This record gives sequence, C-alpha cells and structure tokens, in this order.
Amino acid sequence: MEEIRIGVYVCWCGTNIAKMVDVEAVAKAMREIPGVIVAKDYKYMCSDPGQELIIQDIKEHNLNRVVVSACSPRIHELTFRKALENAGLNPYMFEMANIREHDSWVHTDRAEATQKAKALVAGAINRVRWHESLDKRSVEINPATLIIGGGIAGISAALEIADAGKQVYLVEKQSQLGGTVAKLDLLFPHLDSAQQLIQPKINRAMNHLSIQCFLNAEIREVFGYIGNFEAKVYQKDDLETEIQFGNVIVATGLKPFDPSKIDQLNYKRLPNVITSLELEEKLLSGNLVMDNGKDPKHIALIHCIGSRNKNHHEYCSRTCCNTALKYSNQIRSAFPDAAIYEIYSDIRSFGKGCEELYTHTARQDVMFLMYDQKGEVPKITEARHSEKVNMMLEFREQLSGEHVEVPADLVVLMVAMEAHENAKEIAHAVGVSMCGNSFYIEKHPKLDPVATTTGGVYVVGSCQSPKDIPDSVSQARAAAARIMADINFGSVEVEVTTAVVNEDICCGCQTCISVCPYTAIHFDAEKNVSVVNEILCKGCGTCGSACPTGAIRSRHFTDKQILSQIEGLMSMQLQH
Ligand code: SF4
Ligand code: SF4
Ligand code: SF4
Repeated sequence: MEEIRIGVYVCWCGTNIAKMVDVEAVAKAMREIPGVIVAKDYKYMCSDPGQELIIQDIKEHNLNRVVVSACSPRIHELTFRKALENAGLNPYMFEMANIREHDSWVHTDRAEATQKAKALVAGAINRVRWHESLDKRSVEINPATLIIGGGIAGISAALEIADAGKQVYLVEKQSQLGGTVAKLDLLFPHLDSAQQLIQPKINRAMNHLSIQCFLNAEIREVFGYIGNFEAKVYQKDDLETEIQFGNVIVATGLKPFDPSKIDQLNYKRLPNVITSLELEEKLLSGNLVMDNGKDPKHIALIHCIGSRNKNHHEYCSRTCCNTALKYSNQIRSAFPDAAIYEIYSDIRSFGKGCEELYTHTARQDVMFLMYDQKGEVPKITEARHSEKVNMMLEFREQLSGEHVEVPADLVVLMVAMEAHENAKEIAHAVGVSMCGNSFYIEKHPKLDPVATTTGGVYVVGSCQSPKDIPDSVSQARAAAARIMADINFGSVEVEVTTAVVNEDICCGCQTCISVCPYTAIHFDAEKNVSVVNEILCKGCGTCGSACPTGAIRSRHFTDKQILSQIEGLMSMQLQH
C-alpha cells in the first residue's frame, strides 16, 4: 500500500490571516498528525517563492499529498494545483482549507480563531488521504460563436470575434440591431451622439462576412456542451435554421420599469408625465413640445422610479442619475428660460467624467430637491386652479424638512432598468443561473465576471445587472477575448471531478435524472441504469445526495472523503 506523505502549508496572507490566527501554532499542531511529513507557515503562499517552497518540498521529501490552508479555493486552488503539476505530482492530490474567509476575516477572538484553523486544516489533511489521481480531459472547440442579443454588448463581441476571422451567429429578437443605445439621442457624460456611436457598428455587423445576423429571431433551447453546442434559430416568418457553435455569449440587455405600477405618479393618466425613454424619443425627433403643442416652462425630472425601493427594485439602476443630469443640460439648451428641477433621493453620478457632469449641471440654474430616501416618490396631481402649469408635485423635501409643492408642465420619470420578461426562458435554454432580480449570475463577481458556471456560456452587459456603455463594451470584449483564446488553442479542458454511476447497484429509479440541474444524466433503457455525460456534469453532487442506493458518486467528493474530513475537523474540536 502507498505510504501517505503529506505536506501542509499555512499562509499568513500578510496580516489578513496572521493577525487573527497564530499560523505558527497551526503549523506546529499539524506536524503531530500521522502522515504529515512537513508543515510550514509562510507569508504569501500564492507568491512565486510560496509555490516554489511547495515544489521543492514535494521533490525533497517525496510528498504525495499537499494541503494549503489559506484563502478560498475559488481564488487559488488552480494556482496550487499547477504548482503540484510542476513538481510532477497529480494536481488532484491537493486540498485547500479556507482559514481566511471562513476564519480570520469573520472572528474576533485570536485563540478561538486559531483553534478553528487547526480544525479546518486537520479536516483537510484527513480528506486528502483519500484523494485519487484524476486525469485531465479536453474537448475540441467548434470555432463558431452564438451571440444572443444585438445591443451594444452583443455587437461589440460579435465584431471582436468576426474581425479575427471566426464565424458569429448574432440573434436579435427585434427587427433591427442596436438595442437600447439605438433609442438614445445624446450620451452622458460628454453629450456626444448615440447614433454616431451605434449606427456604424450596426452597419458593420450587418455587412460583416463572418457575422450571420438573425433579426426577429429567438433561441428556445441549446443542446450540447462547451465546444460542441447546437441550437435552432426561430424567426418570426417561421424560418428555422440549425446552427452549431462552440461558445455562447448572452447579451440580452434589459427593459425599462413600468411606472404605472406606482399609482401616485399618474403615469398614463396625465399626458405630460413621460418616462426617460419617451423623452429620448422626443429628443431624437427634435420635438420637445407638450401634448398641447406648447413649449414646457417648468420641467421636473424625478429620479429612482422603481429603483432603490423595497416595493419594486432595491438595487440602483446605475445609469439614471447621469441620464437625468444629461437631460437637464439638453433641456437647458432647448429652453434657456425654463425652470428645471432634479428631484432625487440620492445623486449617484459615479464614473469617468460624471462627477464633472453633475458639477456642470448644478451651474445651469437647475434646482436640486431631495425626496424621501425610503422610496416614497413625489405625488403628481393635476393643477386644476393654475393657469401657468398643468401639474403639481408634492413631497417632503429632505434637506429643508419642508412639505413642498413643485409646479410642472412636463414631468420625466427616470425609470428603473429591469431584467427582460423572457430572461427565465433564455436562462433555461443556455443553462445559466439567475439572481432574485432575474439578472444572470456570473461565475465570480470579481475574479470571473463574464463566465458562468456552464462552460462555454458567457453573460455580458446589462443582462447581468444595469450597466453603462463602457462597462457593457468592456465585458463584451472580455468574453470575446476568452472565447478567441479557446478557439485558437483548439480545445478546452473540462471538469474531471464529475459524477460516475456504479451500474452494479443502480436500480434504475432515475431520481438522479430528475434532480440534475445540468441535465447531465440520461437513462440507458437497455441496461436499466443511469449514465452520466461527463462533459456536461459539473460535479455539483446533487445526484449523489438523492440516489437511494448510493450508486452514483462524485469523484473527489466521495462519502469516504467527506466523512474523513468531518472526523479530522471534530478531532481538533474535541481536543479544545
Ligand atoms: Fe492570501 Fe490566498 Fe495568497 Fe495566501 S494564498 S497570500 S491567503 S491570497
Ligand atoms: Fe441509479 Fe441512483 Fe440514479 Fe436511481 S438515483 S437511477 S439508483 S444512479
Ligand atoms: Fe448532474 Fe451534479 Fe450529478 Fe453532475 S454531479 S450528474 S451535474 S447532479
């Protein structure tokens, strides 16, 4: 039987861990555990010298298992697996104990945090004993890419990939490309033309030899896995086109909130209460007059309609404050003598050049008034007894504490941006997760912000959460670059910690098929057993916990490994 020889490395993470955990004491305690050959602490394990320390010890002490106790495995598991590989050891003979996010960052008692670290590392040591070598697998990549959504993000990604000579299928549900940007007049913060920005891109995408555009089209289901997907494109005239592709970018954008859900705004009942996108239509047509054909003299812009409000959307829609500031400038240019009110609950003019836009707007004789931050929006009523204006806005102004009435003959509602009504269908079709607000969830918000947990599927732009143009374009081009790297390499590594069925004890109940969130299991009726498609399987473990006979198990997460980890963890807790 193989002798188990484990190396244990306890990271300080500068002071991130060391200030709350006695890292030297943790390393010392681990040296007492049978099978541990070396146990060391080091300032930054992920640094080059930190990795070199592991590589040298593997060679010098003939280690065959390694435990690093540091940060989350989501941050550096791959770094350390690579170090093992460089030392000639199978990268899966590795386990990581998280003593930063799970310990030093969340505790205030050094002695207890140190004891918890000992328990976490002892658990990892017990688990790594049962690790087995796993062989990497890779699949070939079809060089075509499907992009769902033809707004600024979708077009940017399409051009990036197509300019490199690779085929793109661009599917847009509207009759033309351009998305929200194509409906805008000027853009914040510099008041440059949205049309001059988007139209050349639309023309290029429509005429690009490597882009096949499908307008009035949708994708209902995507089959396959990274590198080898297929789908049907359905167009309104009922044309169906079958396409094959290796990667998918979802760039479906968002839609405006319907303000008629807030009764006291009287939207749709008072003709001169309009939304921000309706104002854009007027600005684009060059006709800013009211319903009676007259120029407005009192214009009120109300921020956060449906945003930052617990009855609607609690998130900030991110672009509305800057858009409102842009409108004040446009309105001031059109009507130099008009009274303009920005009625806000918080001004959030973040972004390059946007604070400057705010300062500039404040100098344009625009009155800023603050309404209730708890989400009680101003009440808009008809001004029956006024000859000068047709509406009155009532609210409690927060800075003065006064109940105020603001006269207006045009009110612009800065409506929230929300997920599309068919966001769920698209999520289901391509296999991505959604948050409570129906926005798509990225693999990691900081470290992997455009990938998803489904290999080969990326989410970019405002379908993730409201975003401005620079952020949407950056994400689109980032996803395109990731895809191009895989296409140029020709193949991509896939998960090896997948589920596997022991056909001898599978009773054919198909429970696993019903619970698998990645539809990675199918049924072999001839053998009466379930079969895992190891390319589709993400190793989530759901099937293993549901299987009544224990026939299906996840490699690297076997019962033996998990129970041993718990035993190791408990042994340290008991000593305490
Ligand atoms: Fe910090 Fe993780 Fe690097 Fe250690 S390995 S220094 S915990 S980031
Ligand atoms: Fe076989 Fe278990 Fe799946 Fe039932 S749940 S079909 S026993 S693997
Ligand atoms: Fe499906 Fe998860 Fe089981 Fe893999 S481990 S087959 S993804 S349930």
